[in-house]
Amino acid sequence: MSAPTPDKKTFTGSCHCGFIKYKAALPATDTPAATRCNCTVCLKQGFTALRLTPDDFTLISPASLSEVKDYQMRSKDVHKYFCDKCGIHVIGAGKYEYEGAVHEFFSLNILTLNQPQEGLDLSNFKIQYWDGRNDNWRGGMKDVPWPGGCI
Ligand SMILES: [Zn+2]
Repeated sequence: MSAPTPDKKTFTGSCHCGFIKYKAALPATDTPAATRCNCTVCLKQGFTALRLTPDDFTLISPASLSEVKDYQMRSKDVHKYFCDKCGIHVIGAGKYEYEGAVHEFFSLNILTLNQPQEGLDLSNFKIQYWDGRNDNWRGGMKDVPWPGGCI
């Protein structure tokens, strides 16, 4: 966990039943943003992602992510961590190859941030949309869902 800095603010979050609890340092901004994706897994999970560096995430419970259920599809390098008691997906992490380069990622599902919480209102987040269903990462983010996605 990195020390708090003026440009980040730390919030708590959890799965629904509280088995998974965490702290996350989010960018301190009046215009927070997160992304949704139309790929088969993000869509069905309702995963609403904010990319963090792993240092900005501290697991409080359980002791290690290795104790959290990990759904893997397509690649053993992509982890979707979820609570096996209440079913809520909290973190996506790992690496993937795209156009010959390896990209690492660590994404928090912002829907698991605790509310109410001073300085946090999920209704302020601007949601942008990826076309993951078609691996169309070059297409970038749009303000409205790509075909097949959901607002
Ligand atoms: Zn749970």
